[in-house]
Amino acid sequence: MTKVSDYFGCLVFDDRIMKSRLSSKVYNSLKKTIDEGAQLDSSVANAVADAMKEWAIENGATHYTHWFQPLTGVTAEKHDGFITPAPDGGVMMDFSGKELIKGEPDASSFPSGGLRATFEARGYTAWDPTSYAFIKGKTLCIPTAFCSYGGEALDKKTPLLRSMEALNKQALRILELFGTEAKCVRTSVGPEQEYFLIPKELYDKRKDLIYTGRTLFGAKPPKGQEMDDHYFGVIKPRVEAYMTELNEELWKLGILAKTQHNEVAPAQHELAPIYTTTNIATDHNQLTMEIMQKVASRHGLVCLLHEKPFAGVNGSGKHNNWSMATDTGVNLLSPGETPYENAQFLLFLCAVIKAVDDYQDLLRISVATAGNDHRLGANEAPPAVISIFLGDELNAVLEAIENDTPYNGTEKTQMKLGVDVLPKFNRDATDRNRTSPFAFTGNKFEFRMLGSSNSIACANIMLNSAVAESLEIYADRLEKAVDFETALHEMIKKTIKDHKRIIFNGNGYDDEWIKEATEKRGLMNLRTTPDAIPHLLDKKNVDMLTHHKVFSETELKSRCEITLENYCKTVTIEANTMSEIARREILPAIEEYTAFLAKTAKNKKAVDDSVPCTYETDVIKKLSGLASQIYSGLDELDKAVIKLSDAADVEEEGYMIRDELLPKMNEVRVACDEAEVITAEKFWPFPTYGDLIFGVR
Ligand code: ADP
Ligand code: MG
Repeated sequence: MTKVSDYFGCLVFDDRIMKSRLSSKVYNSLKKTIDEGAQLDSSVANAVADAMKEWAIENGATHYTHWFQPLTGVTAEKHDGFITPAPDGGVMMDFSGKELIKGEPDASSFPSGGLRATFEARGYTAWDPTSYAFIKGKTLCIPTAFCSYGGEALDKKTPLLRSMEALNKQALRILELFGTEAKCVRTSVGPEQEYFLIPKELYDKRKDLIYTGRTLFGAKPPKGQEMDDHYFGVIKPRVEAYMTELNEELWKLGILAKTQHNEVAPAQHELAPIYTTTNIATDHNQLTMEIMQKVASRHGLVCLLHEKPFAGVNGSGKHNNWSMATDTGVNLLSPGETPYENAQFLLFLCAVIKAVDDYQDLLRISVATAGNDHRLGANEAPPAVISIFLGDELNAVLEAIENDTPYNGTEKTQMKLGVDVLPKFNRDATDRNRTSPFAFTGNKFEFRMLGSSNSIACANIMLNSAVAESLEIYADRLEKAVDFETALHEMIKKTIKDHKRIIFNGNGYDDEWIKEATEKRGLMNLRTTPDAIPHLLDKKNVDMLTHHKVFSETELKSRCEITLENYCKTVTIEANTMSEIARREILPAIEEYTAFLAKTAKNKKAVDDSVPCTYETDVIKKLSGLASQIYSGLDELDKAVIKLSDAADVEEEGYMIRDELLPKMNEVRVACDEAEVITAEKFWPFPTYGDLIFGVR
């Protein structure tokens, strides 16, 4: 048995490898680039490239790739061999600093939302030295950012790095005011990843899963998740074998896979890593999703990452645990030991509260996809309305500050910031509310609206930028203040007063809450992707994001376009898949079964005219009725798809999908699901929900 510590990170060109393989001069200069963003000169780049190549070849690599995250949401790679012809007819293995630093993929087929005309298709990729290179299969993967020649970001990593820089800059200003020493502030993320595992042989029989990643048909099985017997339940041997191999693969890549358990729905599981710096966490999460699927296929399983693969069954999300920390290891969202630390903590806490309230729409936009629309508000995920859960204790502290009243904690204390010590909160007491979209959990916030297949980059770009904005406003005021403590106290008070509407500690699944949130508190309820996305171009959002140099206005326009386009394409593919399955599989199955029933009834009558045939007659009538309904429903569905080409722009197309196409799809589905439950099992053309979710034994 090899020990985990022996092979952890063995496929990563990490600090250990760099130290042992680079000269100290090269190592120090690379380290400066990684830690402080210093420019890398070409001799250093060449030395790093050479060491990387030697290490990769020793570990079996023959190719290298610039690994990037285009706006498709998945990662992209184009492999180039290290080989170069040698004069003697043989080959040499070659990799230069130039090739390490910059790549020029012919990337004309990636979505750019008009940023890059196809005739000048060549965007370029640029090495991100803050994320380690790694080996996947036989390829050395170099994490990169992807830009157009005009410098516009064509990926998710570039704005993420920019947003981290924006937050760093503003947070350092605040820390300086408090006299807290730090060279930099980084955001950290630990994403909890949910997924489903189903048998591959059943998956192969469902075109809906193959084409769309989710089921478009399926009646509710007699047993679903109502017994709550799966959550944290004993892990089945086959799933355990999968998890074991998955962990090993992730550990080899230096991914800190830590926690695994069964989730609420049958066949649903979760994997959580130990948190790390946001851009690395993002790279790691993309890799994790890829490897989850790869390892599943080795076990005869398919890993579904869709946010709502089964209607009526728990969907899959991703919880983005987020915090800010200094290079010295101080978590800025951790209540401190001294009055000063507490005041600093409260200021950062308030910055988040203000950010989430001011930019509710951006957070909602960051998780908006066709798949996640089925989940948000569907009674198990958080609603589409954003609110913050703080827990009773912290809430009481804020109320005491707002009203200048004593805090009734374990000891009565008047809350004067910078003077009194905050009462110790019980960490456990803060983590009970699972219905909140944005919950404070002791020393971090947990943003729970992300869909399981979302790249976490988008949510963190918005979160980092919005918090940077709050911090900038605070820093501007505090730097000018004559009396720092009074100004601080007043500002925290003002934040609580102005933004307490976003704080909600009750049940987020309750319909009453949605009413209160929207009618009394004026919070936004952006239910669907077409409702949400256009707000990306609202003036306040464009102003904030361009001010912090996270996006240019052109980039925002392109992202708005691409996200809506993606929504439209996704649902159109679903509608076409639905039409094909219903016409070519479901209707013929119904016909076959009714023909069988008719023949049976006829045979029975031939034996004796008095034999009752109520069952056959009734089911034939019902199924024939449903078949007609499905048939005409499909006709309307196909028309609705064709009509989409009349839309003036992608925004209008999105509304047509939301208002016309999706309701039509739902009608067809309801009729098909009704037919399923009265059709004999052996006539039904594909595995049912019961087969799929209880299929792994
Ligand atoms: P649960 O939410 O299931 O109770 P935990 O709260 O222990 O579990 O952790 C959930 C995730 O939050 C883990 O990925 C963990 O690494 C991450 N996490 C813990 N502390 C931080 C932090 N300071 N910043 C970001 N993520 C964190
Ligand atoms: Mg959690």
